[in-house]
Amino acid sequence: MNKVISISFGELALKGGNRKYFEASLAGDIRRAIGDIGYEKIYKDQGKLYIEADERDFPTIINRVRKIFGIAYVSECLRVDKDIDEIGRGSIDFMRDHRGARRTFKVRTKRSDKAYPMQSNDINMKIGGVILDGFPDMTVDVHEPEIMFYIDIKKEAYIYIDRVEGQGGLPIGTSGRGISLLSGGIDSPVASYLMAKRGMKIDAVHFHSYPFTSERAELKVIELAEILSRYIGKFKVYSVNLAEIQKAINKGANERYMTVLSRRFMMRIAERVALKRRAQCLITGESLGQVASQTIEGITASNAVSNLPVLRPLIAYDKTDIIEIAKDIETFEKSIEPYEDCCTVFLPKHPVTRPKLEDVEGEEAGLDVDFLVEEALKTIKIIDIG
Ligand code: ATP
Ligand code: MG
Repeated sequence: MNKVISISFGELALKGGNRKYFEASLAGDIRRAIGDIGYEKIYKDQGKLYIEADERDFPTIINRVRKIFGIAYVSECLRVDKDIDEIGRGSIDFMRDHRGARRTFKVRTKRSDKAYPMQSNDINMKIGGVILDGFPDMTVDVHEPEIMFYIDIKKEAYIYIDRVEGQGGLPIGTSGRGISLLSGGIDSPVASYLMAKRGMKIDAVHFHSYPFTSERAELKVIELAEILSRYIGKFKVYSVNLAEIQKAINKGANERYMTVLSRRFMMRIAERVALKRRAQCLITGESLGQVASQTIEGITASNAVSNLPVLRPLIAYDKTDIIEIAKDIETFEKSIEPYEDCCTVFLPKHPVTRPKLEDVEGEEAGLDVDFLVEEALKTIKIIDIG
């Protein structure tokens, strides 16, 4: 008998022909996440991954592993020989250690080993009886048991009760690469998280407006990125100075177009970074109608300068729902720290809310777009996160 940690895949379980590739990717993520804790072995047994490690490290390992995308559940299990008497003895031990104050239970057996001599239902009945004999104060409740007592019959048998919920999603790197436009706000870290959760490898571009914005504001973004890296792993932040571009817009265009024109420059620069990183798309934290610049017309105007697809995972989210995720992933507190954002520099009193694309292009006609982009690219600082 041996305690091990089991890992069930989420959607991965459905991935058919690609399954091996997804599993290998996930095993790599797990190894990286727990390498510094130390473990004995990670192995596969019919559709789940298992970790052998020092039992004292289980809580730390479970806590790290549950943050990895592509995992549905993590459980502490008892691994026993498939002999039914062994399963019975293991069940008594495991129940004693893990039931706490709970009294009702139901046994649920999953038999992946189809050659096993007993049917799932017979195992449920047999082990249910063993548990009732062992714990006279316990009763079976098939409808709403306090304890779902799981038995998986694979190459070996695994017994477990509690399942810690994982993040779901897909392992990072299995859905291509994207460049996320990361501000210091609430939305863009959530957008980055959601795309990474769908298996995308993320790097970020941040625009500051030094000396109009402070160095402390930049530091805040790096701290936010560090929190994100708990989920999305190591990545790079490309920090770009937008001040010269904003000055040029302020001088050469109607001030009401400041925000939409800055956004177009952000897109152009982000696209250049994407090409350099071989990323296939851009990601923003825009949400329809949330602020004046996030009308469909505003989005159309900024979209028009990018040849790459621009993914906006929050487009249909309410702010309250975004905040809920931000709290869950622990970026919220950092996001609301009151440092200035480059978008507040030269902020017009009355920005256009429904900019027509031809008007935007007209306002931009007086600017040397290519030159401004090239100059801004020269200010890039690359910061390694995680
Ligand atoms: P956020 O909370 O992400 O800052 P927001 O509600 O403040 O979003 P906007 O300021 O309109 O909305 O920005 C919309 C999107 O444009 C952001 O989600 C982000 O992807 C991008 N963006 C805005 N400012 C910056 C910046 N300084 N650096 C990088 N990207 C930015
Ligand atoms: Mg913002």
